[in-house]
Amino acid sequence: MATYHFLEARQCVLEQILAARGVPGVEKVSLADAAGRVLAEPVCADRDYPPLARSIRDGFAVRASGFTGSARVVGEVRAGEQFRGEVGEGEAVEIMTGAPVPDGADAVIMVEHVERSGDRITTTRKVSPGDFINPRGSEAARGAVILPRGKRIGFAEIAALAMTGVTEVPVYLKPRVAILATGDEIVPVEAVPHEYQIRNSNACSLAVQVQNAGGEPVILPVAPDEFEATRKLIEQGLTFDLLLLSGGVSAGKYDIVERVLLSLGAKFYFDRVLIQPGQPLVFGRVQGRFFFGLPGNPASTMVTFEIFAKAAVELLGGQCSVNLPILYTRLATDFRHKPGLTRFLPARLSEDGTQLAPVPWQGSSDVVAIANANAWLVAKADQEEYRAGDWIQVLIR
Ligand code: AMP
Ligand code: MG
Repeated sequence: MATYHFLEARQCVLEQILAARGVPGVEKVSLADAAGRVLAEPVCADRDYPPLARSIRDGFAVRASGFTGSARVVGEVRAGEQFRGEVGEGEAVEIMTGAPVPDGADAVIMVEHVERSGDRITTTRKVSPGDFINPRGSEAARGAVILPRGKRIGFAEIAALAMTGVTEVPVYLKPRVAILATGDEIVPVEAVPHEYQIRNSNACSLAVQVQNAGGEPVILPVAPDEFEATRKLIEQGLTFDLLLLSGGVSAGKYDIVERVLLSLGAKFYFDRVLIQPGQPLVFGRVQGRFFFGLPGNPASTMVTFEIFAKAAVELLGGQCSVNLPILYTRLATDFRHKPGLTRFLPARLSEDGTQLAPVPWQGSSDVVAIANANAWLVAKADQEEYRAGDWIQVLIR
């Protein structure tokens, strides 16, 4: 079975899903409900933007050709109105930011750059055609695509929809994602566990991660480490658009998830990735549905979702592009790790984003440390030693 470096594994997920996904169904939602959804139709400019040449400064609109450094102020134009008349040579119209540039004028001189005396302004600045003017249609020409189909809608996209008067937004139906936690020791969150039992925190964190990726999570009952019961629940999970399993994919005697999936005819694209936490990650397809077998330790489940399953949910939701937010920052302290695997460790990114400090932890079961971190330090498989001040990769959370 295939073992991949983490970027190869991610590439494999993207390729398999892009090759197999269909077009999701479409619904219309109001603009107020559109944030977080994915556009099912491109959005086009309903008119030129800006619709008229517009001043981008408070100042004076003049005709640049023949301008001698002085002009007579013949009127004023504010945002929300249009100047009647034309600006001639040697004339100026006082203009506010956002106001349409009067006919005859082709440059704006900033108010900070003029001396005014009575109805005359003078400036020592050179004035050229186009100064401080956004020409008509310079941001978008009428009919141009301003948002492509498949774009996830955030606050800037909401502004573009609102600007063009789209009040009913066609969006793709959210992919329904089944979450199936496995393990005899796992009990519902409401339960009072025995000391040897653990509440099902993975299903809860995964549900939030699925929602953040634009999917609709559905939490199934916990599967015990028993073949028939697990098989029944996996079959139920395969009626959804994507199945996320947690636990049961390591090498232990009762890690039966892969065997159950095989019995259902599953194809595995990989079942090991050179990362920690999350090394025994499984990705495959059965009965036309993709599944991930995420290792059960909370850090493993969270990290493998972020790196691999998140993109799967986003693509199944019709998104035209996805990205993995790994950036560079600087280490706050010396740091070393055992090379060979790419490591994702809980860390704190400073408020200004320039410093990253590892958060001490007890390993991938340590939810307390993860909850007190705000990012993942990414330690390269081929670099053992890092010094304070070195560049280091960080996965944004
Ligand atoms: P596994 O991958 O099944 O070997 O699980 C590894 C460890 O992860 C288990 O011993 C539990 O401590 C923990 N774990 C597994 N499933 C969950 C879950 N749903 N919620 C919280 N912790 C879990
Ligand atoms: Mg288990």
